Amino acid sequence: MSIAPLLRKVFLLDLLKGLSITFKYQTPKETQTEQYPQERPQIADRFRGQPLMKLDPVTGDSLCIGCNLCALACPENLITMKSERDPVTKKKVMTTYVYDLSRCMFCGLCEEACPTESLKLGQGYEMALYSREGMVLDRQVLEHRTDPEPYDK
Ligand code: SF4
Ligand code: SF4
Repeated sequence: MSIAPLLRKVFLLDLLKGLSITFKYQTPKETQTEQYPQERPQIADRFRGQPLMKLDPVTGDSLCIGCNLCALACPENLITMKSERDPVTKKKVMTTYVYDLSRCMFCGLCEEACPTESLKLGQGYEMALYSREGMVLDRQVLEHRTDPEPYDK
């Protein structure tokens, strides 16, 4: 072995070089760790998370027209809905809507199939529960959900 590599080994130069790089990234400016839950991470606009059903902002009525397209589009068959025809207006009205979140893979096919943009996979991602029972969502739950507000520090 020539003298230069030997001296590098004796004086641990490679180790010191590695440590210098490590400590260079210890300044708070360089820290990449997300301080969740104190700081909520930025979610992409097209993120598909917690499902919700939008209401008409003016009338407060459901935007759902009971067409069943979301249920037909779902590869997991986890949406169950019923509708009936209004005898006066002759329009279909959704009467029951059940969404089994425990089987959802958030593919977004139901959302894409919805002609009225009633069904939305929103920005919420804190959906963990201790049991599957609470994951069967009915119309009331879905309609009263909103996307989460960002945390204040
Ligand atoms: S996101 Fe996909 S799996 Fe989930 S309900 Fe919609 S279509 Fe079904
Ligand atoms: S949520 Fe949309 S796709 Fe599903 S039944 Fe209602 S209007 Fe049709």
